[in-house]
Amino acid sequence: MAANKTIQKTLIPKENFSEWYDNVLLEAKIVDDRYPVKGFTVYTGWGFSIVKRIISMLEEKLDSSGHEPMQFPVIIPEDAFQKEEDHIKGFSGEVFWITHAGENELERRLVLRPTSETAIYPMFKMWIRSHADLPLLMNQTCNVYRYETKATRPLYRGREFLWNEGHTAHATYNEAEEQIRTAIRIYSEVYDSLSLNYIKLRRPDFDKFAGADYSVAFDAWNPDGKSNQIGTVHQLGNNFAKAFEMTYENEDGKQELCTNTCYGMGFGRTLACLISQHGDDHGLILPPIVAPKQVVIIPIPVKGKEQISKEYAKLIYHNLTSNNIRTVLDEDDRLRPGEKFYKWEMNGVPIRIEIGPREAESKTVTFVRRDTFKKSKADLVNLVDTVHELFKSINQTLNERSKKIMNERMATAYTLDELKEFMDQRKLVRINWCGNKGCAEALKDKVSGEIRGTLWLDLEEPTDNCILCENSAKYIAYVSRTY
Ligand SMILES: [Zn+2]
Repeated sequence: MAANKTIQKTLIPKENFSEWYDNVLLEAKIVDDRYPVKGFTVYTGWGFSIVKRIISMLEEKLDSSGHEPMQFPVIIPEDAFQKEEDHIKGFSGEVFWITHAGENELERRLVLRPTSETAIYPMFKMWIRSHADLPLLMNQTCNVYRYETKATRPLYRGREFLWNEGHTAHATYNEAEEQIRTAIRIYSEVYDSLSLNYIKLRRPDFDKFAGADYSVAFDAWNPDGKSNQIGTVHQLGNNFAKAFEMTYENEDGKQELCTNTCYGMGFGRTLACLISQHGDDHGLILPPIVAPKQVVIIPIPVKGKEQISKEYAKLIYHNLTSNNIRTVLDEDDRLRPGEKFYKWEMNGVPIRIEIGPREAESKTVTFVRRDTFKKSKADLVNLVDTVHELFKSINQTLNERSKKIMNERMATAYTLDELKEFMDQRKLVRINWCGNKGCAEALKDKVSGEIRGTLWLDLEEPTDNCILCENSAKYIAYVSRTY
């Protein structure tokens, strides 16, 4: 059993998260980080097939809620980029500049978009004339560029990242508030259909998006205890409208400032979240909705009876594909069944069907589900229904498992020593906080984590004084390490 030995050797326990993660990225062909520019990553076949499905899911939801798809240029002229003061302060340290064309220095320097507000709003200004042009809702799926100075990590933190950004303009602040709720609902629906678990936090004022009134973020749990911010939604108020003179004529013929919102879903981080929350020692476990292949059929050869198994496997394959179930029939004779199991388990295919002469003769199907490795049988006539039931059950298991881990990681600290201890245990920690930036900064110095924010919508009453200054607390804040 030499083959089995090599199989065991390459399995890395998820407990060694960092090593496990890098191995899964390569083995399951998610991304290849060996591209010769630091912070830039190649999405490879399996990984990008998953991402494309997440993109479609989001784009469909944005589309059906009135967002128009657009594609803006990747470059932003310096003067537009520098119009909104807080925005430029927030981003200037990490933008890539284009300064030359051939041998010639450009008269007007260009920025590679780190985000697109300053590309989009000058155009919004031209498109918006009257209240009849509002609301204006757009979105684009594109790459953005940020010269990250923190250590890069494939999918979690890169210098080029793939996302979808939504940008909206409204007549009133209240309408923009309504849009914030819509965006949060849409993002939640996408994450929920991937069985991901996260908390929605209103970021502290000092950590909001540069140029926003306030920011809401989706913080997902990660096995190494760091928070993975997979999406953000921002209320921009009139800040950009003022800077870009984005006004409309109201019903009384008066000029009024627009209110803007914007939001972004990072597909790299969402994919990283999917891998990290659901994966196990054997590799990926994919929610069926985004699995490039949802079922793998593996014929088990029995001497003298190969043909009957093969034909039956083909019949099953046609049955599944004609019912729009993404299926692969692994007929590669160079690999033994055990090696095939290993490969498709690593790839996270939700269901494996094993076909031997016994199944062929009795017209039955043997299923092995990737999440629990539980075996079950069904009659051929119930094939498609059974697969759909298993999909549903796999989603439920993934969600419950992930939720359980997230809940286990929550803790409340009343002293700094407790907080330190919980941070070492990779927990997501609730603390009482007075709301002052000084205390937040002191906390960051004293423990290896930071204040991520307060729960969005669910107001939590403080239960003690501020954990740092011991003045009366205003908030229950969440502290964790972060990417
Ligand atoms: Zn304080």
